[in-house]
Amino acid sequence: MDCIFCSIINKDEHEGMIFRDDKIVSFLDIRPLSYGHTLVVPVAHYTDFREMPADLMADYFAQLQKIALAVERATEAHGFNIICNTGIAASQSVFHLHYHIIPRYHDDEVFKRLNFKKYDHSITMHSYAEKIKKQLF
Ligand SMILES: [Zn+2]
Repeated sequence: MDCIFCSIINKDEHEGMIFRDDKIVSFLDIRPLSYGHTLVVPVAHYTDFREMPADLMADYFAQLQKIALAVERATEAHGFNIICNTGIAASQSVFHLHYHIIPRYHDDEVFKRLNFKKYDHSITMHSYAEKIKKQLF
């Protein structure tokens, strides 16, 4: 398998390596949206969020939180975004599950051009809530 994250995981040296144990690896993104932009990656190869077994999520998220708080303190950020791009349509570019921790500062304009939608009478919030509820099981 030709996966850039698996090759980072299997190598010893990475200039931006932050954390490594038998389940989780964390290192700096080579194209940061802000300095300290960090990735948290399961050692096991799952293509994306949809594939990771639910029983592994609790440990993964506990580590994600711990690393996010360290990133925030280290970068003296005012907050951070935690993002998991899932699928090509969502701008996923490496197909090995990973979360981004992006340090944020007041007025930093990292996500300046977001295009928020509005629910109205033709596209109602209720109809979307009902569609999603039907898919929960
Ligand atoms: Zn991989």
